[in-house]
Amino acid sequence: MIKTISDEYVYKKEVDWSLLMEGLTLPVDNQVVFGQIMGRFIQRGESKDITLYLEGKAYHAKIVNVNFDPKFKRKKDTYQIRYSKNGELARALQAYFFKSFQFIKTTRENRDPSDRSMIKLPDEYKEYLAIYTTEYDDSYILEPILVDDMQVLREVVKGQKERELEAGLESDIQDETAGYDQMNQLIKIRKLNKKIGDNLKRLYQYRCQICGRLIGEEYGSHVVEAHHIEYFVKSLNNDASNQIIVCPNHHSIIHDVDPVFDRKRLLYIYPNGFEEKFVLNMHL
Ligand SMILES: [Zn+2]
Ligand SMILES: [Zn+2]
Repeated sequence: MIKTISDEYVYKKEVDWSLLMEGLTLPVDNQVVFGQIMGRFIQRGESKDITLYLEGKAYHAKIVNVNFDPKFKRKKDTYQIRYSKNGELARALQAYFFKSFQFIKTTRENRDPSDRSMIKLPDEYKEYLAIYTTEYDDSYILEPILVDDMQVLREVVKGQKERELEAGLESDIQDETAGYDQMNQLIKIRKLNKKIGDNLKRLYQYRCQICGRLIGEEYGSHVVEAHHIEYFVKSLNNDASNQIIVCPNHHSIIHDVDPVFDRKRLLYIYPNGFEEKFVLNMHL
């Protein structure tokens, strides 16, 4: 049983068929968080038993270090969360994400059976599962982010200025104009957004990814901000892959002149032609 919940880390996964049926693969940069058992890493072919909590109910699952054929010379380990196929947790997730489930199920039934490509949800139907760590390395908390949550968010952010919105997402100030249900949905999404940003700040040890500076060090402080590459007001995308960690100066400049982000070369191109390459990157 969980005593106190310390949601130190969160992984946000877009809902797909696998998640609704039997499990999900964890990205490489999350493996330090999920891949440990009793202070060491789970070895290839090994697994650990875990408990997933969804709305107060406990479900049994496993984290597996997938053991591939050695002849493929796989360099990185691959971790998966697995639960029993179409079992209790899968059916609970299908009920929460019933819109995604119906959409993918119908698409699967109506397509050529030889087509095994992954079915992506259309943007307006996208739903997510947030997986929070706890102080126990065998217990995790699941939180569904539903179409309805995203809809509320879409209405609330409409017409807002990106920089103010980002500042609002980082703070715990509550929107007094929102109703009770709306409020709960916003708190849920704000918490998720803040946690993803906080995880990234920790990853970069509070340094700006563009200039590498640690602002406030001499004062025993650190001032750093999370910026959404594709503006959150438009994209509603707070995945780690859409966030960068920047110092307040760079953040202000970005919002002032709106440079173009070149993801491949990992640099910003400013309207005056100046190109500035990131000095730090571990997650893009
Ligand atoms: Zn900077
Ligand atoms: Zn920003």
